[in-house]
Amino acid sequence: GEAKEPPRIHRLDESVVNRIAAGEVIQRPVSAVKELVENSLDASSTSISVLVKDGGLKLIQVSDDGHGIRHEDLPILCERHTTSKLSKYEDLQSIKSMGFRGEALASMTYVGHVTVTTITKGQLHGYRVSYRDGVMEHEPKACAAVKGTQIMVENLFYNMIARRKTLQNSADDYTKIVDLLSRFAIHHIDVSFSCRKHGAARADVHSVATASRLDAIRSVYGLLVARNLIKIEASDDDPSSSVFKMDGFISNANYVAKKTTMVLFINDRLVECTALKRALEVVYAATLPKASKPFVYMSIILPPEHVDVNVHPTKREVSLLNQEVIIEKIQTVVESMLRDSNKTRTFQEQT
Ligand code: ADP
Ligand code: MG
Repeated sequence: GEAKEPPRIHRLDESVVNRIAAGEVIQRPVSAVKELVENSLDASSTSISVLVKDGGLKLIQVSDDGHGIRHEDLPILCERHTTSKLSKYEDLQSIKSMGFRGEALASMTYVGHVTVTTITKGQLHGYRVSYRDGVMEHEPKACAAVKGTQIMVENLFYNMIARRKTLQNSADDYTKIVDLLSRFAIHHIDVSFSCRKHGAARADVHSVATASRLDAIRSVYGLLVARNLIKIEASDDDPSSSVFKMDGFISNANYVAKKTTMVLFINDRLVECTALKRALEVVYAATLPKASKPFVYMSIILPPEHVDVNVHPTKREVSLLNQEVIIEKIQTVVESMLRDSNKTRTFQEQT
């Protein structure tokens, strides 16, 4: 047959490119909440509250008591690739902040309506300003404000019909948001968190700053979890292998659940590691078959150069150097703790 004429190639409108990219960074309401809360943590906040309306599609509001945003930075705050956290590529190796790409706020303005209220130390009043498609909509207006920053995202995905529809049919985003805040609350125990549905009298997550991790877990996940935990710790300072430190709490033989809860922080970043989760389930199934779906809170510290945090815009999956070795080490520690606890339990039951 006759060859078809090739279609012409043209450059996409910048607004189309930005909206497509934004939809990748902000996949659902809970992704916006994660970015906002991480910004609050990066701003050294001690108190962070989240308010959600209609699963986050109508409103997500995150208020903190952090250092605030300078008036002179407000014009570029929501532009793509504007950040106070990274200057040169090499900084990525040692970056301590959660953010660094300067993409989150910008992305939210391409798929929602963003309003920022902020005040910095020593100022008599704050400023409020709204953004759309990366651009400040008007000059910042002086307003009353308490310490810190409040960011409101309204009408998320108003311009992404298919996304909005699929999300409207699944009512579980608020559950995901509560789950997210619960995870942050048991790691950052020096910060108080709250998460509330608009119109609800009480908060679904409510943690106060404490010195005890176990108290934090009790207040967020409840007594049934907290009283069935074993403390674990491991470290390896052998310079020839990968230097790592791990500590956390894992459930014992009395904790029975339908599914595994795995709260994992690597270098203070909330991440997922499917391989580690599976590896722990294997140990539990072999050691405590009746309690084979564990609750695990684990914080792992690795040399920053062993963790690639920049795999994906959501920064959710990290890749680790020597992942197999680390997982094996953790498996060994967990297994021996479980065996010990199982022995004492049988002993207690017999007496
Ligand atoms: P990133 O966190 O990667 O720098 P963001 O788009 O999330 O990018 O935020 C852009 C910048 O806005 C941050 O670098 C920070 O300076 C500022 N910022 C955002 N949220 C807050 C906040 N809650 N408190 C203080 N500054 C903030
Ligand atoms: Mg950020």
